[in-house]
Order: sequence, then C-alpha cells, then structure tokens
Amino acid sequence: MEKVVSGIRSTGNLHLGNYFGALVNFIKMQHENNCFFFIADYHSLTTHPDPKTLNGNVRNVLSEYLGAGLDPDVATLYVQSDVPEVTELSLLLSMHTYVGELERTTSFKDKIRKHPDNVNAGLLTYPVLMAADILLHRADRVPVGKDQEQHLEMTRKFARRFNTIYGVDYFPESQPYTFGKGLIKVPGLDGTGKMGKSEGNGLYLIDDDKSIRSKVMKAVTDSGPTKPEEPMTEPISNIFKLMEIISPEDTHKFYLDKYNNCEIRYGDMKKQLAEDIITTISPIRERILEIRKDTDYLNKVAREGAEKAKASAQKTLSDVREIMGFSKFK
Ligand code: AMP
Repeated sequence: MEKVVSGIRSTGNLHLGNYFGALVNFIKMQHENNCFFFIADYHSLTTHPDPKTLNGNVRNVLSEYLGAGLDPDVATLYVQSDVPEVTELSLLLSMHTYVGELERTTSFKDKIRKHPDNVNAGLLTYPVLMAADILLHRADRVPVGKDQEQHLEMTRKFARRFNTIYGVDYFPESQPYTFGKGLIKVPGLDGTGKMGKSEGNGLYLIDDDKSIRSKVMKAVTDSGPTKPEEPMTEPISNIFKLMEIISPEDTHKFYLDKYNNCEIRYGDMKKQLAEDIITTISPIRERILEIRKDTDYLNKVAREGAEKAKASAQKTLSDVREIMGFSKFK
C-alpha cells in the first residue's frame, strides 16, 4: 500500500467545489492507500489568525471532513500542531535550503506582491514546512492541485539533496497523486469561473435547504436558445455542468434535450437542481452538525490521529537524527 499525505487548510467551510473536486477523491483514496490527512494549522499562522478562533476553526474543519466521509478508523486524521515533530524536521531540512530558492518560489512572490506589509519568515519557509509535512511520513504520493505542484517539486529536491549529502537512500521522491478522470472543476453559479470561497459563490455543505434554494434560484441565466442545438453561453453551461455532477443522469439529459429543442425553462431547471443539491448536501450537513456538538468524539479522533501520526513521525525523526550525526550521550 502506498503512503499518501495530504494537508487540509484549517479555515473556511467546505463548498461543493472542495467536495466534488477534492474530497470525494480523498474518501475513495483512503481505502486504497495508507493515508495521512492533517489539518494545517501551523501553516495558517502566516496570516496571524486570532488565537480566540484558531482552535474553533480547526474543530469545524475536522467536523466537516468527518461528516463528509473521511473515516478515522481507516485513515490517519490529525492536527498538524499536535505532532510538533514536523517543526524539528522542518528546521533540519532548512539547513540545506537556500534562501535564494525560497525567494524564487511562485507562491512566495505572489504573497509578497499581494501583502507587502506582511512578508514574514514563515511565508518564506512555507515550502520547507510543507516538505517536512510530506517527508515526515516518507510519503510516496501527494494529491496536489496546480498551484501546489512547485512545492512538491521542491520537496523532491530537498529529499534528493538530503539523500545525496548524507549518502543515504532515505527519503522517497514523493510523486503527485493523480486522479485522472476524477479531477473535475465545479463551476460557480454567478456566470463565470469556478466555485470558490474567495469568489463568494460557494454552495456550502452546511448551507440549509432554504439558502441552497435561494442561491440556486439566483444563478445567472440568459434569454434562452433561439435555435435548436445552439451553443451554450457560459452561465448556462455552468448550470448544466453542476447538474451533470450532482443530478441523476436522466434529469441532466431531460433538461439538455429541452435546451436543444428550445423548450427550456431555466426556472424549472434551477428548481430541480436545487432539490438535487439538497438531496446530496442535507445528510452530510446533518452529520456535520451532529459531530460538531460531540466534543468527546472530536477530541478522541484528534487524540488517536495524533498518536498514529506521532508514531510515524518519531520513527522518521529518530532515523534523520541518526543520519545527521546526532546521538544520545550514553
Ligand atoms: P481551496 O478551497 O481553494 O483551498 O481548495 C481546496 C481543495 O479543493 C483543492 O484541492 C482544490 O483543487 C479543490 N477545489 C476548490 N474549489 C474547487 C472547484 N471549484 N472545483 C474543483 N475543485 C476545487
């Protein structure tokens, strides 16, 4: 079984883009691999979250992933800061990391352009901590989106460098986990682009039925096709795409035929889409709300996950310390 490691951001609610674009794959993947999923709360510190909300955010994210289907009996699910061994590995790796290569990282350049008032060292060393997250469990594979590919490439570079310097074959060169056809882009309902938190167009797993209906009914449409088989405008193609992802196949086909025959009534289609979204989301939402209330369960999941992750981390750290020449005084 391959070892797979994936970080999860520690703030924000999950929307249908996160669910169908990433989580559904994670849920499948956990049964086929030895998976470590961690909530990246150390990484979130680059933007200085309020200490009063940090823990609550982590708890909410954990409940959402559990409610959506990550299974702590199958995968190792833990909070990054519960396994501080990762910071030691990050420190050790940083000794062989050059400031120049960190400064050239695209995400770093992006961040300092957008937030010139907050160029902290944590931002600069972000890729080293990320490499430590991955190498801590000597991961074979890492599911990454386009924006994270460079970080994974750097992780491989750090691993190779470590192996070369110390003349060992210790760290693997972690490869991207590719989902093939499973990688889908969930569109937004505001006419253009994808669904996203920062786009402000999310349909969230914890949205109640009323707000789902209201969001879907507000979806941007056009004045309708004027001739059979007319190419779709982007807003309409987005609604169809969402329906294709979420509704039964024959429902999607029914409305596609209506469109192609110029008989479509967007209002009816949106009503149907809203109901199909509710069918998918509402059981997940109910589970999330139940889990959120169950502090004992959440604590147990986090504690047991940390124990499993720690065992793996401590083994790596002990090897790395030995390779680098640290030994206990006897
Ligand atoms: P983010 O919410 O941007 O931090 O993304 C978390 C994960 O969800 C990443 O793996 C993204 O690729 C995925 N994701 C976010 N939005 C979408 C979307 N609209 N369609 C597909 N995947 C998405």
